Amino acid sequence: MPLLIPSREIKLTTRTGVSVNRTLPHRELKMIGPWCFVDHFGPTEQTDGMVVAAHPHTGLQTVTWLLEGAIEHRDSIGSVQHINPGQLNLMTAGRGIAHSELSLKETQRLHAVQLWVALPDADRNVAPAFEHRDDLPVVLGSDWKATVLVGEFLGQRAATKAFSQMLGVELRLEPNTEFRVPAVDGFEYGFLNVEGEFAANGAEVPLSGLIYLSSGETGTEIVLNSGQSGATLLILAGKPFGEPILMWWNFIARTNSEISEMREQWNRHQDDPAAAARFGTFSDHIGGWIPAPDLPNVQLRAR
Ligand code: MN
Repeated sequence: MPLLIPSREIKLTTRTGVSVNRTLPHRELKMIGPWCFVDHFGPTEQTDGMVVAAHPHTGLQTVTWLLEGAIEHRDSIGSVQHINPGQLNLMTAGRGIAHSELSLKETQRLHAVQLWVALPDADRNVAPAFEHRDDLPVVLGSDWKATVLVGEFLGQRAATKAFSQMLGVELRLEPNTEFRVPAVDGFEYGFLNVEGEFAANGAEVPLSGLIYLSSGETGTEIVLNSGQSGATLLILAGKPFGEPILMWWNFIARTNSEISEMREQWNRHQDDPAAAARFGTFSDHIGGWIPAPDLPNVQLRAR
């Protein structure tokens, strides 16, 4: 049976107390391929938008995708990048990076998705990197439009840097449209409802929710049907990751001691140059930084 993951509302640790709709990670579903974190934000008309002060990441890539609005990204390897709908920001944290995100003043509405991709053990300590793509392949049908964020879809491959066999696509369906997604052999699939209404293999997917099919459940294609309002959805797929990971706060590692060291280094980065070396420093229009919370009293384990 396909697994339905409804979203839950999460308050972010930001200045403005905005909330997001989160599906992954979930008690019943940790990852889809290397995709390990899925937040859907908005659409909101709140004028304070998104103000996320400097915070670190390790062992993952962040993917920012906008449907409406504009955001400024800054990071500790010197990137300053505005992103608009139809473009992709990909930050490879590798061994460590810090960044901030600020929705731009002229933004009336903001509608965004933020995703994390776990890096395989062999690559998780690569040097940090940042990539902005405004050249993503677009495939047009008479009643649908597919934008390839990462991987290959319908014969079009995005140049986005990937470390695993994976796929990310934004698919827009006109009202009452059927679309058959060709299933890559061995891939597991998730379909995230970003806007409108659709069903995957007959199962309705609620707004901000996702439906998951394991690699044994996809068959050779998955049938999507949009409702009367049409739909915008994300296809998130990949080869099952196959490695236990340890996700805590903004870090992905493998052991409790690694997480503990990362946390210490971030929380001391302003006072201790040795601690600052991992994440680097930068300045932005937000100011300040978000400290890592206390670790739980139990040992964290990869799973
Ligand atoms: Mn972040």
